[in-house]
Amino acid sequence: MTVAATENRTESLRALPGDDARQILWRFSDRFDLQMLVQSVRAVARGPVARLVAQGARNTHEWTAEKNALLQAFDESGITGVFMEPSQGGFIEGPKNLALALVAFELAWVDAGAATGSLAGCLALSPIHERGTPEQRDYYMARCAPPQPGEDRKPWRGAFCLTEPIPYVGVETGLLGGKVRVAEWSEGQEPMLQVEKRGRFITNMGFANFVTAAVESDDPRLKGTCMVILEETDPGIFDRGTPTRKLVHQLSSTRDPIFSLKVPASRIIGGYTVKDGVIVPRYNHGEIIEAVFRRTRVTVAIMTSAKLLSAVEPVIRYGRTRFRGSSVATPGSPRYDLGLQMKADVVHRLVDVWATGEASAALGFEAARVFDRLDPLERQKDEIFAARGVGGGSARMKAMRPIQASAIEYLQGMRPELKDDPLVQYALLDSVANVFCPACKLWNTGHGARMMREAVSLMGGYGITEDCPGFLGHKWMDSQLEATYEGPEAVQRRQLSVTMTDEVFLAQFKRWIRDMKLIANERPGTGACSLGTAMQMWLWSLDHLLKSKDADGAKLYQSSRQGVTFPLADALCWLLASRCQILDVLELEKRGPENPTLAEGLPGTLTFLSDLCHVQAARAAGEVGRVCAELVFGYNRHPAWETDSACYRTSDLEALESLIPGIASAAPGCCDVIDNDGGHPAKAGPCVGFEGMKQFSRMRMRLDGCLTGSQLAKDRAADALTRVMIPEALDYPL
Ligand SMILES: Cc1cc2nc3c(=O)[nH]c(=O)nc-3n(C[C@H](O)[C@H](O)[C@H](O)COP(=O)(O)OP(=O)(O)OC[C@H]3O[C@@H](n4cnc5c(N)ncnc54)[C@H](O)[C@@H]3O)c2cc1C
Repeated sequence: MTVAATENRTESLRALPGDDARQILWRFSDRFDLQMLVQSVRAVARGPVARLVAQGARNTHEWTAEKNALLQAFDESGITGVFMEPSQGGFIEGPKNLALALVAFELAWVDAGAATGSLAGCLALSPIHERGTPEQRDYYMARCAPPQPGEDRKPWRGAFCLTEPIPYVGVETGLLGGKVRVAEWSEGQEPMLQVEKRGRFITNMGFANFVTAAVESDDPRLKGTCMVILEETDPGIFDRGTPTRKLVHQLSSTRDPIFSLKVPASRIIGGYTVKDGVIVPRYNHGEIIEAVFRRTRVTVAIMTSAKLLSAVEPVIRYGRTRFRGSSVATPGSPRYDLGLQMKADVVHRLVDVWATGEASAALGFEAARVFDRLDPLERQKDEIFAARGVGGGSARMKAMRPIQASAIEYLQGMRPELKDDPLVQYALLDSVANVFCPACKLWNTGHGARMMREAVSLMGGYGITEDCPGFLGHKWMDSQLEATYEGPEAVQRRQLSVTMTDEVFLAQFKRWIRDMKLIANERPGTGACSLGTAMQMWLWSLDHLLKSKDADGAKLYQSSRQGVTFPLADALCWLLASRCQILDVLELEKRGPENPTLAEGLPGTLTFLSDLCHVQAARAAGEVGRVCAELVFGYNRHPAWETDSACYRTSDLEALESLIPGIASAAPGCCDVIDNDGGHPAKAGPCVGFEGMKQFSRMRMRLDGCLTGSQLAKDRAADALTRVMIPEALDYPL
């Protein structure tokens, strides 16, 4: 049965989608290890973590004994070991991005501070995992692995220290105040380094036994920047500093530490060589950070998705029971059964929250899966490059160029034999990963924070109290931190503005448009039509902006012009999230019938989830239409300002009038408002020409037409929310 076929059915959502549906949607129905992990993490989240929150542990930013007890719960439940290889004390074979995303999801369902605390340990180890020497990896992983049965050992905990007190490192990671010098270097001996580093807002710092810190050389005998490992027993000062007076994520420890330590040069992450008497670290701090954040940002993105989805049940319960005390609300009456859900706006807004949660989880989990597929390919690529003597940095970029060209040829169907070429497959996936990671971090957390506010508002005054079921008020505030740490939104937008113009990515994006149009033919109820058209519009606008100049002749698409690049990056995120959401539902449609537990309620679930897709696709199309129209037209001067304008001559306007009746006559009035100081701009510059304007306006009209049915889908989803069964009470304490 197709989603299209379910459209006309009356089946509605019976119960909130459970694990069986989630495992298919997020593609781990064949991963028993991950299913077990989810159960185990859930027990910690809805047990000790929820109890701590309910008892008010979030009311202090101090690291208390009760909070510290969570670390042991993380160790015992397998959360700590997820990051490690089985040979290092872990239990998950192969790439672990999806596993870590699921851990983050389950913990953040209750409290994202707890999720952050657990993941900060992985973040500390990540520089060593991604770029450390084999000796460094073995040494630190073994110490951080939870004790095995019968072992009497306290596992080490780590912290990742990049951010420094103002005016040093924050968004700008190059502004390093932390320094490293050669302290002693005897002939034939390992050099000893003196490290001076201060940190700001460093997670896990209340108890970390070691720190991976970014520093810059302050010595001609040491080149550039690097990351070093500092241990609490190293000679010198290991001061944990004052606790950060956080308003959020109170179940993690955050402090401003001070380090002044002497360490052997073997602590430089990735090792070093000595060239002409100078220590040359194998990796500078930027290379290590890039490799680390590339993966860890995905798990942060997932935290906000979890909160949005976790809000659905408490909001439904609150709405339904809101009027039960009233004398006119007798059992069986709409006022008794539906309560606030009688009001259309209440259910419509919840549909929006839920649709956003689905889309953001879809995007985040897809990003995690992309990295799971990329990890082995990246290793293969490194081995091949090493065998060919290709170094890092610009040499690597140069070596990748012909491979990227081949990847495009492969996509164009010219060289099918490249299907099994690991380098080509790496290039394809790498370009997608480079977009998906910043996209999910940016959209899930940034837009997610806005939508968490919607969820909070549906709980009325309760929403902003500590007693709010589902801790929604806390979750709303916390989501602002998810949008900030590991690089705020500006960082993700900056990165996207580069990676989204990559030709290999765009070649794949074009295929996705075609695929979406095909899906639209088969399953119009998913909103694939509006999404496909919006994708086309985004691509057209990007192409246009890359080639165009503003009214003063200045290039439009350039890194310093964040007014152009940033909104376009935002618009892309809407598209990617909506696309992933639709693909997830198609997967459920395909695989759901195989699962007998699911099969019974499947038609209703599919109808409902595709309605959410439709709602979300329409919203995405609206955003993309707005952003693109502002950018494409906004950098022109108004035609009425300049009669001989290069943009629109009178004849153009007349022609346009036939396309969009009223547009020409509207111009002077509009101009009066804009040009209220009476002066005319000096001249109109190159801008969107008439042909371009015509094309864009046609697309815009088509886009609006594609919204057909989207509000009906919303009504249907809202209606389903009034009838869906929910448990009697939340399964974690209030
Ligand atoms: C609770 C908590 C835990 C944290 N944990 C850690 C940790 O474990 N380890 C660690 O190293 N750090 C950690 N951080 C630090 C966090 O990563 C930084 O706060 C974050 O990267 C932003 O840096 P900043 O606060 O200095 O902001 P700034 O660099 O001052 O930026 C402020 C704002 O200015 C704007 N902006 C800045 N630069 C640009 C630009 N180039 N283009 C456009 N706009 C720009 C953006 O709007 C940005 O949000 C943590 C922070 C908090 C609050």
